[in-house]
This record gives sequence, C-alpha cells and structure tokens, in this order.
Amino acid sequence: MATIPSSPTAPVADVAVVGAGIIGVACALRLARKGLRVVLIDQQEPGRGASYGNAGHLATEQVFPIADFSIVRRLPGMLSDPMGPLRLDWRHLPHALPWFTRLLLNLRAAPYQRSVAGIRALNEHSLAAWQRLLADIGQPQLLRQDGSLLVFERPESEAALQALRTRMGEQQVPVDVWRADTVRQAAPQLSARIQGGLFFPATGHFLDPYRVVGALMESATARGVSFLQHHVHTGRLGPQGVTLITDRGEVNARQVLVACGAHSAHLTAALTGKQVPLDTERGYHLMLPNEHARLPFAVTSLERRFIMTPMTDGLRLAGTVEFAGLKRPPNMQRAWQLHTLSKGLFTEDLSAEGATPWMGFRPSLPDSLPVIDRVGNGRVLLAFGHQHLGLTQAAVTAERVAALVDGQVDGVGPYRLGRLW
Ligand SMILES: Cc1cc2nc3c(=O)[nH]c(=O)nc-3n(C[C@H](O)[C@H](O)[C@H](O)COP(=O)(O)OP(=O)(O)OC[C@H]3O[C@@H](n4cnc5c(N)ncnc54)[C@H](O)[C@@H]3O)c2cc1C
Repeated sequence: MATIPSSPTAPVADVAVVGAGIIGVACALRLARKGLRVVLIDQQEPGRGASYGNAGHLATEQVFPIADFSIVRRLPGMLSDPMGPLRLDWRHLPHALPWFTRLLLNLRAAPYQRSVAGIRALNEHSLAAWQRLLADIGQPQLLRQDGSLLVFERPESEAALQALRTRMGEQQVPVDVWRADTVRQAAPQLSARIQGGLFFPATGHFLDPYRVVGALMESATARGVSFLQHHVHTGRLGPQGVTLITDRGEVNARQVLVACGAHSAHLTAALTGKQVPLDTERGYHLMLPNEHARLPFAVTSLERRFIMTPMTDGLRLAGTVEFAGLKRPPNMQRAWQLHTLSKGLFTEDLSAEGATPWMGFRPSLPDSLPVIDRVGNGRVLLAFGHQHLGLTQAAVTAERVAALVDGQVDGVGPYRLGRLW
C-alpha cells in the first residue's frame, strides 16, 4: 500500500477521501477509475471500522426503516436489560433523545414511505453494482450469490412472517416461502424446531468483509490512490478547494469526500456548518472458527434476532443494537450472548472454542437513509449514514458519488443533506 508524506508541499489531490471503510474505499476506487487523483485518509488501517466485522450479508431484502412504532413499547426494556437485543444505555439517553424524537417523527406515513422508497432505490441496484465492482477488480468470488433465509420457531410467529412477506411483496422484494421440510433439505444442520421461513433469492453474502475492503484497496492503490494514515481533526473550505487539518499536517485537495461512517458528523459540521443528526447503533459479532460447514448461506432467526453467516474464517454470529455512543467501551458480553442465543437452533450446538468477539459502530440517521450529496459549491461530497446496510450499498453509493463528483448529476432528494432540516 503506497503512502505519501503529507506537508503543505505535498501534491494537491483532486479528491481527498476521509474514511477508509467500505464506503470510502469503494468511492476512492471508483473516483480513481474516472481518472481523478485521489488521496485516501484514515486514522487506522483501511477497513478497521464497522466494515471490518459486519455480518457480510448483501441484504437487498431489508427495505424497511430501522425501527417501527413498537420501539415505544420496548423502550423500558431497552433501558433496563443490558443484554437485550435492543439496548439503550441510560447514560446515552440525553444525547439520544433528539435523535429518537426524529426517529419517531419519521415513522409517520409520508416520511416512512419516503424512507422505504429511498432504501429500496439503493437496494434494487446493489447486487448489480457489486457484480460490476467485483468484476472490475477481478474478484467475483468474494461474493456468494446464494440467497439468505429468515427462519421462525414458534408457531405463533407464522402470522408475523406472513405479514412481512406481504409487505416485502408490495415492495417487489423477491421472496419464497419455505416450509420446514424445504429448510431441512437446504440446511440439514438446523434443528427440527425450525417451522419454516422466508428465502430471499436476490441476496447473498461476502466470505470475508475485511478482505473485501483489502481487495478494493489493492485495486485502488494499483490505480494510483495514495493512502495517509492520519487523524483528520477538522477542515476548511478555501477558494481553491479544501484544506484538511490532520494530526500530521495539512492536506489540500480540490474536493473532499466525507466517508467517516458513524464519525462523520464533526467533519461535516466543520465543512458545511450543519450539525447532522447522526448516532450510532452499536452492533456485535462472535466469530466461531470451528464452524465453517454448518450453513450453506446466511440464516437469520426471527425470534432470536441475529444472523449467522458462513465465512472463510468460520461462522459469524452477528447482530444486536446498542445505543451507547461512540466513546463508551464495548460490552463484549453482548457478543458472547450471541452464542447462548444460538443454542437449540442446530441439531448439535455450535462450538465456541477459539471464538472472538467484536463491536462496531453502525452509522445511523433517524430516517434510515444515508447522505449521498455534493454541497459547498461542489467542494464537499458526503457519503455516510448507511446504518445496517453499508456493505450492501457500498458499490451503488460509489457509483452515485462518481456521478456527483463533477456536477454532471445533482444530489437525489432522499439522500440530500438538506432533507435533514
Ligand atoms: C454487527 C454489525 C453487522 C452488520 N451487518 C451488515 C450486513 O450484514 N450487511 C450490511 O450491508 N451492513 C452491515 N452492517 C453495517 C455496515 O457494517 C456499515 O454500514 C458499514 O460498514 C459502514 O461503512 P463506512 O465505510 O461508512 O464506515 P466504517 O467502516 O466505520 O469506516 C469509517 C472509517 O472512517 C475512519 N475515520 C473516522 N473518523 C476519522 C477521522 N476523524 N480521521 C480519519 N479517519 C476517520 C474510521 O477509522 C473508519 O475506518 C453491520 C454493522 C454491524 C456493526
């Protein structure tokens, strides 16, 4: 990976991309393919943020916002149960209240429908965009297009599953109903408790999300993208472009792309004067290195609310939502809890020997849509806030940013920064 020294005399880039997660790296590569000189900046090695440990699910079926009105009913439980699937740390409550208020306002019919349409418009193009991107870097094998399955165990859950199927059908999400015997044929290691499920044929999974960032990074480097391991403190706009102030000096570029995931609010405020209502839904995974062969594709449990994805390094159990901000240390018991939750889902329980826990910051806005926009007289590009879908939407986001960069295309309504006020 090429690194270049930074100093006021360093060559001025066309675009400085801040944040080398899946969004920033995919965008950097796409911009370099347009012939632009790109410098990519991250405080850590590429792909070590949320993009490192996600569930690897190409979740094109997830077209609904991150919450519904049941969140009001669940609030007391969220505050009192530190191990619940949905958790709100009471110390984060004062910070989170305005965000939750906006979340609730966005559940009214019109904004809710706008969010669904906005998520869907990205998800519908996500698989094809990933196919183009992986073909471009010569690594199509990183993605398995083998669908995914949502299973249920309690007979009384069937009605909820059918209702979900109807709602998904209304949004043109391809979905098949599987009875218990079909599930058993396709995934024989799942236990007899499974009553059936919904199979989503237009989805898939990545075998190693971190490796995906690495592969994109290698290709970006080969196309001339430079990497600086710097922390960006702030930035300012000038007549020629943008100056970023980092812990190791200034970096100048004609344009900047803010792609810092859950950490994007500070730099966005410095460059645009706007305080973005960005919070983080912290999520956890537990990687089980001895469980490669349990599942043929990603399987989610409706009742237990977590996903299990077969990967190169084992079986990844992932999920849970924790509102506790960016600074509080992880509660890794939540990751270990995923193993407890898996008990009874298989004919033989999963082995946790050698398992590794992880926590990451999902970047979430209260209307569940990302910001993908071009502001500041074209000097500032924004691509953040992809909540549970950043991996899914990275390739399509990169295509949109590449279309925005030279102003040929305008920002699209639902993804514009200005919608948030
Ligand atoms: C448990 C879990 C499971 C998930 N499962 C899925 C899934 O199955 N499918 C899916 O599509 N999505 C999933 N997601 C969501 C997905 O991981 C995120 O939406 C996505 O990774 C966000 O990518 P990003 O590039 O915006 O952010 P990140 O990957 O977090 O990257 C942001 C980068 O910015 C850098 N940065 C921040 N501030 C600065 C600064 N000031 N200076 C320099 N660098 C800075 C960070 O170091 C980081 O590398 C999951 C998330 C979690 C936590």
